[in-house]
Amino acid sequence: MTVQTPVLPDAQTVTTIHHWTDRLFSFRLSRPQSLRFRSGEFVMIGLLGDNGKPLLRAYSIASPSWDDSLEFYSIKVQDGPLTSRLQHIQPGDQVILRPKPVGTLVVDALLPGKRLYMIATGTGVAPFASLLRDPEVYEKFDEVVLTHTCREVADLAYGKQLIESLDSDPLIGEFAKGRVKYVPTTTQEESANTGRITDWISSGKLAAHLGLPDLDPTDDRVMICGSMGLNTDIKEIIEAKGFEEGANSAPGHYVLEKAFVG
Ligand SMILES: Cc1cc2nc3c(=O)[nH]c(=O)nc-3n(C[C@H](O)[C@H](O)[C@H](O)COP(=O)(O)OP(=O)(O)OC[C@H]3O[C@@H](n4cnc5c(N)ncnc54)[C@H](O)[C@@H]3O)c2cc1C
Repeated sequence: MTVQTPVLPDAQTVTTIHHWTDRLFSFRLSRPQSLRFRSGEFVMIGLLGDNGKPLLRAYSIASPSWDDSLEFYSIKVQDGPLTSRLQHIQPGDQVILRPKPVGTLVVDALLPGKRLYMIATGTGVAPFASLLRDPEVYEKFDEVVLTHTCREVADLAYGKQLIESLDSDPLIGEFAKGRVKYVPTTTQEESANTGRITDWISSGKLAAHLGLPDLDPTDDRVMICGSMGLNTDIKEIIEAKGFEEGANSAPGHYVLEKAFVG
């Protein structure tokens, strides 16, 4: 495939697309040479609206900071202004990308610890797809736990493939091997692990399932990316255990980011 020369301001070229379900897809864009970001951050991406103005939305970069191209993992909202159109992109199409990455789901915002928990619902797994492929995570933590909660089993496919690819990844395999624990759970469809992750944490079921001690700010660090409800509930549970929120300017025991607004 020949890569088109961008013509829109801040436009990048779509290189690959994968449709996971009728509500979820992922795609890759060319990466501007000047774009620097920290794994876990998000950018604004979009298309030109009917009025000729950019229609932009926040998107976590799902690829790690060292990657040559940029991966995104997206919902398809049927009447959503952006994703009703974005879901139809084809290789060679252009997508606007504002090269100003920001966000709190970064390793720099956490104090050193032994274990890093990544708690995601739905497309909230995207920033963790970036972090799980970053060697820095394995340099700073002995062990990583990814919990990913979706309504149905099919919605877990992107995260499942990500985890399955880690061990054989030529760059990350040697760091990640045997150090990542993956806990997929479903809330609507019966599966091996059914239930809300908040219930799993507060009841001690998650710790028992993992064979690890209960969450403790001495050793554990937590990153959360889900709906507002999930974020608020997990924050409440872990703050009761003594976890303090971190920021770039003042690292702490946990950080959180909304996976979407609304
Ligand atoms: C910091 C941040 C990072 C984000 N990263 C991603 C990402 O990596 N991937 C992604 O798909 N979206 C992400 N979003 C959401 C994204 O910005 C858009 O809302 C989404 O692309 C839908 O755009 P839209 O214009 O089609 O509909 P919108 O008008 O933006 O949304 C319509 C409604 O759809 C629902 N909705 C929107 N996004 C989602 C979602 N991701 N999952 C479930 N329901 C949703 C909400 O109820 C919302 O009110 C992120 C949002 C924030 C704030």
